[in-house]
Amino acid sequence: MASQPDCLFCKIVAGEVPATVVRETAHTVAFRDINPQAPTHVLVIPREHHRNAGELAAADPSLAAAVLIEAAKVAADEGIDESGYRVVFNTGAGAGQSVFHVHAHVLGGRGLSWPPG
Ligand code: AMP
Repeated sequence: MASQPDCLFCKIVAGEVPATVVRETAHTVAFRDINPQAPTHVLVIPREHHRNAGELAAADPSLAAAVLIEAAKVAADEGIDESGYRVVFNTGAGAGQSVFHVHAHVLGGRGLSWPPG
């Protein structure tokens, strides 16, 4: 889907809003969450606008896979691939989604309880 004018993460992709970018590919951007919930808290997004993980996977399965591959690479870069990390796609306001441009939260660097509460 084309870039959406009012989308914060489309603006980060376009360089109109600053972010601490840790990885980039032709199709994805990974940047640090502004309000980290763990020592590592990185968001991985497709450059293209899709509202959530399900819509992304339905529209472009290979792009959904690219987001997951980048999430694993972020974890390796951050040194949390062995200790363990969590990949979260909040979907819908009731589940805590506040930015409606799909993003994988990559969280780690501390013990992560389950269930998350
Ligand atoms: P969610 O609530 O799942 O939609 O996640 C949105 C995430 O984006 C939250 O964890 C916010 O802290 C994060 N966030 C909001 N604005 C920015 C920003 N300008 N740069 C980096 N992360 C942001």
